[in-house]
Amino acid sequence: MTDAILVVNAGSSSLKFALYPETSNPTAALLRGKIAGIGSRCVFSARDGEGRALSPSEGMSVDAGAALDDLIPTLLEWLKNHRGGVNILAAGHRVVHGGRHHTGPARVTEALLDELTTLEPLAPLHQVHNVKAIRAVAAALPGLPQVACFDTSFHRTQDRLAQLFALPRALTDAGIIRYGFHGLSYDYIASTLPHHLGARADGRVIVAHLGNGASMCAMQARRSVATSMGFTALDGLMMGQRCGTIDPGVLLHLLDCLGMTTQEVGHLLYETSGLLGVSGISNDMAILQSSPAVEAREAIELFCYRAAGELAMLAAAIKGLDTIVFTAGIGEHSALVRRLICQQLEWMGVALDTDANERDAVRISSAASSVDVLVIPTDEEIVMAGATHRLTTGVHAPFPSHGASHP
Ligand code: ADP
Repeated sequence: MTDAILVVNAGSSSLKFALYPETSNPTAALLRGKIAGIGSRCVFSARDGEGRALSPSEGMSVDAGAALDDLIPTLLEWLKNHRGGVNILAAGHRVVHGGRHHTGPARVTEALLDELTTLEPLAPLHQVHNVKAIRAVAAALPGLPQVACFDTSFHRTQDRLAQLFALPRALTDAGIIRYGFHGLSYDYIASTLPHHLGARADGRVIVAHLGNGASMCAMQARRSVATSMGFTALDGLMMGQRCGTIDPGVLLHLLDCLGMTTQEVGHLLYETSGLLGVSGISNDMAILQSSPAVEAREAIELFCYRAAGELAMLAAAIKGLDTIVFTAGIGEHSALVRRLICQQLEWMGVALDTDANERDAVRISSAASSVDVLVIPTDEEIVMAGATHRLTTGVHAPFPSHGASHP
């Protein structure tokens, strides 16, 4: 029987999970898996600690039409019997929104769940599923200690100015501020910086988390100083299906002159804009890169042009730049995107080693570059596993091992 910490990332159509050894300082997962296609056609996949796919006979059988509420008890039952048995000691959940007061992860209580439910309108695509997953685990394993790990909390170190919109004070007081997201990813990258940069880790760093959702975070002393996402995960960079920063007058025009409903505008902003909208082909960067269509190329170029502009704006918040870190699916794997963004930043002293960039090497800046450019794979799950261990055992060992993390 293996003692383990379960980590859960529940989204609108997928449920990602991982098991970690019960230690304050896990370095690798025992098991990682995903149920994709929830709500349409569920597909289960999982890999063991060595990255080997489980054989079909070892996998979990899922009802194709199952909803999140049904999948969680089935998953927990399957985990309990996995390879000699797993004893789940605690569960950590990714929760997109922690509001303005949570500066770190929090133990789940009924009061916390009520508070997180009130934040659902602020993250309509994610929060409801995050809360539902916590409740489903609580129902299946009553009394299991659970921890909520927030995507917003890493940014609560920002100065007030970086969190303000230029709106009337009453709206600021009512919570309409820039929260920022992708905090678990930034927390992980911040924890790895001393390993890669030594003393420069505490300098001026911009992390570009470029996945299907994309944002950037400017850090100093490995703490968030400013970030590109704001009140919601719609702001900032162009993304797979989201347009990012847009003149708010466009939204008024769509509503008032083109007669769109708020639901239609919401769908446009969250689902049909960004790479998908501009290319008319796909939200997937890898597909666009292999397409000969001029629209695909234009979408990639706009993505990079906008990313370079956002990065320059964030550099102003930290008054210069020592290091750029690329991470997440596009940041880790697209040499083309990294090259186009860095070319746009040559005036800042950024110079790429093109061979290293093509190889997805860790350090992709040339010796002549005055800015270090790194590629570091992110690991949001390991941050959640460490936080869950800390909050359920009270053991405050440095985590992960390669550097102290955000408290
Ligand atoms: P999510 O935000 O859903 O977690 P990911 O971090 O997995 O997203 O990133 C998904 C994006 O990464 C997709 O646009 C995908 O095309 C892109 N990507 C993954 N591998 C490559 C690659 N080899 N070349 C270009 N893009 C890639």
